[in-house]
Amino acid sequence: KIRLDEVVKTFDTFRAVHGVSLDIESGELVALLGPSGSGKTTILRMVAGLEYADGGRILFGEQDATDIPVRDRGVGFVFQHYALFPHMTVAENIGFGMKVSKVRRTKAEVAGRVADLLRLVKLEGLGDRFPTQISGGQRQRVALARALAVDPKVLLLDEPFGALDANVRRDLRRWLREIHDELGITTLFVTHDQEEALDLADRVVILNEGKIVQQGTPEEVCRAPATAFVMKFLGDTN
Ligand code: ATP
Repeated sequence: KIRLDEVVKTFDTFRAVHGVSLDIESGELVALLGPSGSGKTTILRMVAGLEYADGGRILFGEQDATDIPVRDRGVGFVFQHYALFPHMTVAENIGFGMKVSKVRRTKAEVAGRVADLLRLVKLEGLGDRFPTQISGGQRQRVALARALAVDPKVLLLDEPFGALDANVRRDLRRWLREIHDELGITTLFVTHDQEEALDLADRVVILNEGKIVQQGTPEEVCRAPATAFVMKFLGDTN
C-alpha cells in the first residue's frame, strides 16, 4: 500500500502540488486524471523518487519513502515517449534492467525471462527487431515488458498511450487491464484523457491546480461529479 499524506511540491515559487492525500491499495489500478499542469506527473515522479516532496510524507507500507533508495522502491516506470534504446533489439531492451539490477541472473535466465515477458505482452517472434522496426503500440508494450522485467511491486505509467491513435489506445487499454488483472500489480496511471481513466481504472483521482477535487470509482465520479470543474471536465468526452 502507498500513502500520500498532505504532499506538497513547490518549484521556485510555483506550487505544483498543494497538500495531496491519497491511499493506493495493493493491487489497485488508480488513474490520476486532470488537465495539463494539474500536477499529475509531479506526483508520479515523487512516488518514483525522481523528485522530492517538500511537505508531507509518502509511505510505502509503513516505511517513509525518503528512507528507501530509488532502486529499492520496487517501481517500474513507463513514459509517454517510450525511451527504448534505439541501438538495442526488443529483447535487449527488455533484458537491460535485469542486467543492471541487484539480482544476479545468468545469461540463460535473462533469456528465459525475456521470452516469458515477450509472451506476456504478446510480442513473441519480435525479440530480434529494433525499435524502429515495430509500431508505436508495440513499442509501448516493449516499454511495459521492460518495466515488468525486474518484478516491480508498483507500476507507474505516465500517459503511456498518449502518442497513439484512438483504436490502438483502446486495444492497449484492454490489454493493460488484462495484464494488471493477471499480475495483480499495484498500478498508478497518469492521463488527461477522461475516457481512458474511466474505462481502465478501479478508482479515478481527479486533479486540478495541484489539488484533488474528487476521487471514487468511475461510476461514482460520473454519477455525482463533486464540482462544476469535474462535471465540465468529464463532460468534455461527449
Ligand atoms: P501534463 O499533462 O501537461 O504533463 P501534469 O498534470 O502532469 O501536466 P505536471 O507536469 O505535474 O503536470 O506539472 C505541474 C506544474 O508544475 C506545471 O505548471 C509545470 O509547469 C510545473 N513544473 C513541473 N515540473 C517543473 C520543474 N521541474 N520546474 C518548474 N516547474 C515545473
